[in-house]
Amino acid sequence: MIPRLRPALGWSEFAAAATQRRSVGDFEGRFAELMGQRHAIAFPYGRTAQLMLIRALGIRDREIICPAYTCVVVAHAIVKSGNVPVFVDSEPDGFNMDLDAAAAAVTPRTAAIVATSIHGYPVDLTRLRTFSAAAPQVQVIQDCAHSFAAQYQGAYVQQAGIAAVFGLNVSKLMTSVFGGMITTDDAALAKRLRTLAAEELEHRPFQNIMRLAYLAASAAALHPVVFGLVDRIRRAGLIDRFTTYYSDDIIDMPGDYLAQIGRVEASVGFEQCGHYPDIVARRRRIAEVYDQTLAAYPALLRPPLVTGATYSHYVARVADPQAVLKAAAIQGVELGRLIDYCVPDMKAYRSYDRSIAFPRTQALNASVINLPVWVDEATATRIAHLVGQAAQALETRI
Ligand SMILES: *Cc1c(COP(=O)(O)O)cnc(C)c1O
Repeated sequence: MIPRLRPALGWSEFAAAATQRRSVGDFEGRFAELMGQRHAIAFPYGRTAQLMLIRALGIRDREIICPAYTCVVVAHAIVKSGNVPVFVDSEPDGFNMDLDAAAAAVTPRTAAIVATSIHGYPVDLTRLRTFSAAAPQVQVIQDCAHSFAAQYQGAYVQQAGIAAVFGLNVSKLMTSVFGGMITTDDAALAKRLRTLAAEELEHRPFQNIMRLAYLAASAAALHPVVFGLVDRIRRAGLIDRFTTYYSDDIIDMPGDYLAQIGRVEASVGFEQCGHYPDIVARRRRIAEVYDQTLAAYPALLRPPLVTGATYSHYVARVADPQAVLKAAAIQGVELGRLIDYCVPDMKAYRSYDRSIAFPRTQALNASVINLPVWVDEATATRIAHLVGQAAQALETRI
């Protein structure tokens, strides 16, 4: 079975982790350099980073605009920070939030907007500037969990706001196994974040050893040779934390959301910074292969090819995603369904303002499938044909 995701971890990461070669400070410095920003501050998760950033910005009892089509943990962090998420539908021809709709959602209570480059498609920075010109009091937070160093017409998205948030778990483009990061050029904000991190985050005993074990277990679980056994492992709950990461009706943070990363994560993350340019170059190449090969199958809508996108996911659209997933699984390929939920439609968020509709997000939810982006070109070609044929075999057309 070819898994839908596989972290780009090699021997250098394992060796660095085993010897705990780097400190958290080393990793932060290297990450800041990679993102072209003055400061980087590490956190246990992307969502913890976002929560602390909102607190460090002094935002409370206010509204924060975010996409309806995003990872639910973004909304959780907003709620946990004591603020109200205001959801905005997707743009007509892409996956990102519609920035015109976002402008219309601004009220006197709005304090921030979480500009998200979902699936690695860079936020339209020209439109974001127009948004900010009309609402200069609204802070721009970049959610770069899918878009490490994505570029919009040559400009890095992470640099276009007060700060950027990154998630670094094993399902992300690059990983420190556990972890999240904030980057900013604002020295005063960086200082407040460091103070918050020092006050709020815990260091747990034996954490280094536990996380080294987790690293080995998840690497083994995701290796193609072992992946045939993955159902069993999944049932045992070993990789639950990145296969079933949300529940429909609870706004919550994981039990270890304040457990700060240590030298194991820092050592892996530091090595990944060095490999990141290769990781993203390969994903761009595989996206091209998918684009070219899938062109022969009109029953499937291809995502745009955008210069500067990072392709955290290659997301196509079909009329019956479950049928295509099943057909691919029979042929030994695991596809994903990111993102198959509209955050404001989830039970936990139904009590929030319903005056905005989300038809575009819902249409995406009903049709998206994502193909493995970590594979080589020959495998990508084979996967594309198999997925394309499965889409052509559907009775309905998208
Ligand atoms: C993964 C993710 C995050 C947060 O990452 P965690 O480390 O899982 O908390 C934030 N935004 C988006 C869009 C993500 O996919």
